[in-house]
Amino acid sequence: MKRRDFLKTSAIGITAPSILMSDDEIKPNMNDPLILSTWEHGLPANDVAWKVLQNGGSAMDAAEAGAKVPEADPTSTSVGFGGLPDEQGNVTLDACVMDSDGNAGSVAFLQNIKHPVSVARKVMEETKHVMLVGEGARQFAVSHGFEEIDLLTDESKMAWEKWKKKRREMMPHETHDTISVLVQDKNGDLTGACTTSGWAYKMHGRVGDSPIIGAGLFVDNEIGCAAATGLGEEVIKTTGSFLVVELMRQGYDPTAACEEALNRVIKKHNGNLDFQIAYIAIRKDGKIGSACIKDGFEYALLQKGKNNLHKIKGTI
Ligand code: ASP
Repeated sequence: MKRRDFLKTSAIGITAPSILMSDDEIKPNMNDPLILSTWEHGLPANDVAWKVLQNGGSAMDAAEAGAKVPEADPTSTSVGFGGLPDEQGNVTLDACVMDSDGNAGSVAFLQNIKHPVSVARKVMEETKHVMLVGEGARQFAVSHGFEEIDLLTDESKMAWEKWKKKRREMMPHETHDTISVLVQDKNGDLTGACTTSGWAYKMHGRVGDSPIIGAGLFVDNEIGCAAATGLGEEVIKTTGSFLVVELMRQGYDPTAACEEALNRVIKKHNGNLDFQIAYIAIRKDGKIGSACIKDGFEYALLQKGKNNLHKIKGTI
């Protein structure tokens, strides 16, 4: 079945706002893979993911390889090595992956391991579980050959020491950006990966949305996939990424689905929000969408070999 036919079929019997797409909204060539990532660090992530696909790698290989780029980059202060620590100076990492068969793996509160996304994939592929946390996740990683390293760089240590003197609460959008990589391969199959060091100077033990399947990331290969960045607590309370995918199932356009998921948060705060949340989404037909609460969010889209950064206007 063609993707377009699929969507027509899937919309039958559903009372939903608008949406069957017009022909010009559909990806020109249905066999073009596409890669959609959060933030500017998504650009190099996309490039690497694209190469993996071009070399015959799977969508999961691509998503993982993409997420590993910012994890290894010490200048990316929101992810992996060089990520800003918690209030006690520990870098604690959250990550997850989900594939087109609905398999998922996740790690949370993981320390001293550079590539949490790869550990999450190992959890998915080599255990009966979905999620490992903290010391158990670290032991699992080490037993699977992951090297232990100090994730604090001179720069992130200095930033933390400076913060410690004043202890001003930082909002996630000031310093933190989860990198999520959503991939649609040439067969139209969807996969995603998500990785972060979380809210800067958070309480020791705090876990955000990023390792929680359905909150930070969700993939339903029949409908679409979505990922979140921003204040994890609010994303968890609204099961954000799952909600975006479910709204697409009901017929919402990908951007409308992202906006509606944000509305659930905005309404609760009576529009008075001092934080950022952004969603990105790919619908099964290859249409992408995104929305954010505040100006400042950007996503990187690689399509037809072109990789571009797109700035998104906030909804409030
Ligand atoms: N969502 C992440 C968290 O709450 C942080 C971010 O993306 O800004 O841990």
